[in-house]
Amino acid sequence: MEDSRSGKIVVVSHCILNVHSLEDGLAIYPGMEEDIVKILVEKGVGIYQIPCPETYIMGIFRQPLPKDPYDKPQIRERFRSLAKEIVDQLRWYKKKGYSIVAVLGAEGSPTCGINKVGRWKDPVKKGRFPDDVIFVEGMGVFMEEFKKLLEEEGINPVWIGIPGKSLRSLDPFIFEETLEKLRKLL
Ligand code: SF4
Repeated sequence: MEDSRSGKIVVVSHCILNVHSLEDGLAIYPGMEEDIVKILVEKGVGIYQIPCPETYIMGIFRQPLPKDPYDKPQIRERFRSLAKEIVDQLRWYKKKGYSIVAVLGAEGSPTCGINKVGRWKDPVKKGRFPDDVIFVEGMGVFMEEFKKLLEEEGINPVWIGIPGKSLRSLDPFIFEETLEKLRKLL
């Protein structure tokens, strides 16, 4: 039977398709990250949306925080169990011969960052987001657990962090560069 599917799947952090999972003040789009979604549609990939890990454990009224408060064994364990459920599903796509081409995380997020996360400038005093936070090299807690489990399954996508509001305000070129990288990859 004729079938048009491309066999390519991109896994995305929840807020890329639903900005309502973000903490107040962080949404740049009314509903979804349209610039990213347009590229995914143009390239004909399937989109697998990860449930929002922070909403899963903390609910929807949480404040934005750096990685430090999320980097705790009990939180990591809950994120790992969520990641395991997702990997259990992605395994089926792999078995059918589909390619998990990329994971798009939310750069700068303590949970879904890929290459950058926030840290308290002063871990003793802590403070408020974003004034008392710096962005440093690192991966969010959920993504660290998700990546380990995917690697155990032999699933090795390209990991791309989509910069959010805080990082875009620090670097005006970072978002365009990320879009270009995504276009080239897909
Ligand atoms: S970055 Fe991750 S944890 Fe934060 S809102 Fe998006 S999906 Fe949820």
